Amino acid sequence: MKILNRKMTLKAFQDYIDEMKFGIFDRKIDRIILHHTSSPIESWQNSASMLHYWRLYESRGWKAGPHLFISKDSIWLFTPIKKEGKASTKGINKGSIHIELVGRYFDKYPGPEVAKLTAHVLELLTNKFKIKTIRSHYSYDENSNCSPLVDFPWVVSLKNKYLVNINITKDIC
Ligand SMILES: [Zn+2]
Repeated sequence: MKILNRKMTLKAFQDYIDEMKFGIFDRKIDRIILHHTSSPIESWQNSASMLHYWRLYESRGWKAGPHLFISKDSIWLFTPIKKEGKASTKGINKGSIHIELVGRYFDKYPGPEVAKLTAHVLELLTNKFKIKTIRSHYSYDENSNCSPLVDFPWVVSLKNKYLVNINITKDIC
């Protein structure tokens, strides 16, 4: 499995998305699925963490992985958005952009740094691809090992807090 392993500032990510050309032969993207890492945010070590997750997916024999990781200060490109990713065994990969928030969020919401960066990333992606659905992995699979907290209501709270333009509905697709 090939990974990009690129660290980006929000500005660099914005340019990257703005310049991305999507044609009729590219895959149709219609949703964003939010996940979070199995390791806590305190143990995030940039490239070393990327390689840790790369090894993990390799060990599972996966040919694809999540698209992005969002840490406190950076957006990490893991696999190309143009390619179908994989972050679930439940067949919810078609049409999805999989985003891993760095940290464990079973009993708390992401802190302000991850939350703010996520708000801007979601604004960019929903507008670029006309996405109407942002849901947690948990909402598709209760046995996913991902928290129900990083779901629609949390994204709505980000909209209000950071005044980002994210037009989504509660419907799941
Ligand atoms: Zn997940």
